[in-house]
Amino acid sequence: MNDTVHPSAEVPDALKRILLIPFDHLNAERGVLRDAQPETDLVLFVQSERMCSGRNWHKERLFFLISSARHFAKRLEGMGFTVWFVKAETTAAGITHTREQLGDLPVVCAQPSSIRQSAQLQEIGVEFVDNDFFLTPRTLFRTWAESQKTFVMENFYRAQRIRLDLLVKDGEPEQGRWNFDADNRLPPPKNYTWPERLEHQRDALDDEVATSLNYTPTTTWATTREGALSQLEHFLEHHLAGFGPLEDAVTLEEWSLHHSLLSPYLNNGLITPDEVVAQAIERYDAGEAPIQSVEAFVRQIIGWREYINGMYWFLGADYRELNTLGAERPLLPVFTNSGATKMNCVKQVVSQVEKRAWTHHIPRLMILSNLALVTGTNPQQFLDWMRERFIDAAEWVMVPNIIGMGVHADGGRLMTKPYAAGGAYINKMTQYCKGCAYDPKKRVGDDACPFTTLYWDFLDRHTAEFVKNHRMARQVHGLGRLTDLPELRERATHVLAGLDEGTI
Ligand SMILES: Cc1cc2nc3c(=O)[nH]c(=O)nc-3n(C[C@H](O)[C@H](O)[C@H](O)COP(=O)(O)OP(=O)(O)OC[C@H]3O[C@@H](n4cnc5c(N)ncnc54)[C@H](O)[C@@H]3O)c2cc1C
Ligand code: SF4
Repeated sequence: MNDTVHPSAEVPDALKRILLIPFDHLNAERGVLRDAQPETDLVLFVQSERMCSGRNWHKERLFFLISSARHFAKRLEGMGFTVWFVKAETTAAGITHTREQLGDLPVVCAQPSSIRQSAQLQEIGVEFVDNDFFLTPRTLFRTWAESQKTFVMENFYRAQRIRLDLLVKDGEPEQGRWNFDADNRLPPPKNYTWPERLEHQRDALDDEVATSLNYTPTTTWATTREGALSQLEHFLEHHLAGFGPLEDAVTLEEWSLHHSLLSPYLNNGLITPDEVVAQAIERYDAGEAPIQSVEAFVRQIIGWREYINGMYWFLGADYRELNTLGAERPLLPVFTNSGATKMNCVKQVVSQVEKRAWTHHIPRLMILSNLALVTGTNPQQFLDWMRERFIDAAEWVMVPNIIGMGVHADGGRLMTKPYAAGGAYINKMTQYCKGCAYDPKKRVGDDACPFTTLYWDFLDRHTAEFVKNHRMARQVHGLGRLTDLPELRERATHVLAGLDEGTI
């Protein structure tokens, strides 16, 4: 199947290069388009069949990626470029097909964002220019990582603040502290009015893509740079000030709280991390947002986001396959069907993902990853599921977030201790427990919270690994003081069987 959707104007007479634009490089000022010339360059997009139907992709995600690329292609045409949008079996087949028609010209692309795609494109002779969609060149990150004993994100973040000269005066952090999280981490507020959320209306091109996918998209995600910029403006105006304090809370009333909803556009290139950070700091300078919110937001972008990308490249291809806790349980039915559980927190979060392919970082960590971790779900099956279901998923961001942060499958290379939580903590940070069939305080008995039971059972199953970890000493010690361990083990066996059957 090779199909060229819209070969725009004539091919340039003086054609010298084919510029390949992956669907996450949608920016006219970055990557290979930085020095592109309409007179000598032809811009090529390849929509690969494997990308669309090779896996159980969420259609919201496919719609977003394809429609954003189609809109961007149209924009480049408006700028005078000759654009070919080719549908082919694979990206390699699309490039070969284009070369057959245009001659054996150099194909140039910005360094791809995944190890696998880099290898595939290199194999067919695609040339790379620097990837400037991040603030930290891969070589610079490697130099930092090689100088560290442990890869603590906070240390990287402080170095970034100084290197990028953000919220720093004379080498000292703004308002005397590097990190204001002690003022954040508030539980869900009571009687709080959440600002209106921005909806993105669909245009004719969106409709065409939606029809081709036989799907009705939400109005949550924009598919153009203008839409992404309006989302940024909406966040700065209505949410930035409240971002920090409520960053870790989860409420029943409002699914996005004060989160920015910017990750899809940062990840596909429609907006860039430097412009987002600069605008947030402008609001701080203008006295429109407090330091604990602006610092927290800046840390997510120049700290976490850059750190995760840097670590992905630093840790290399084998990291994806790690499974040091030997977790072999197949993916639980609840991940593919929110109806297959009575656990209110899991049901609500999975149904959010079913609806709009997004939930914020705490449900990703505290509910979804925690469930995979304490049930001993196979990390690669869980990773694949997250990759397929999230609007902002990409290999570089999912691999360290899941293998390292989410399910501790890397033996602690990224995070020194696993993020396992029982029902009591979930009850503190969310409002799910009130409407649940289970009791977060109980670890045994028919109405015991599965998270509470499995938290202890997880520690029990892995005592040998964790007893050597001084950061886990308190938890392991707590396990030793349980008087109902035999009963708890029995309940855990029952809970795991029920989760496998979709009845718990
Ligand atoms: C298990 C797990 C899986 C995740 N998978 C992804 C993923 O596939 N794609 C993705 O973009 N983010 C991922 N994240 C990070 C984070 O959950 C999302 O970036 C965030 O929820 C996106 O919503 P937002 O734009 O409203 O973020 P906000 O809360 O408004 O944060 C602002 C920005 O900070 C960046 N950011 C914050 N934390 C991280 C992080 N840990 N890694 C990378 N960027 C970060 C994102 O670009 C985000 O847009 C994951 C986190 C966890 C714990
Ligand atoms: S009681 Fe347990 S299962 Fe139910 S919502 Fe709370 S944490 Fe989730």
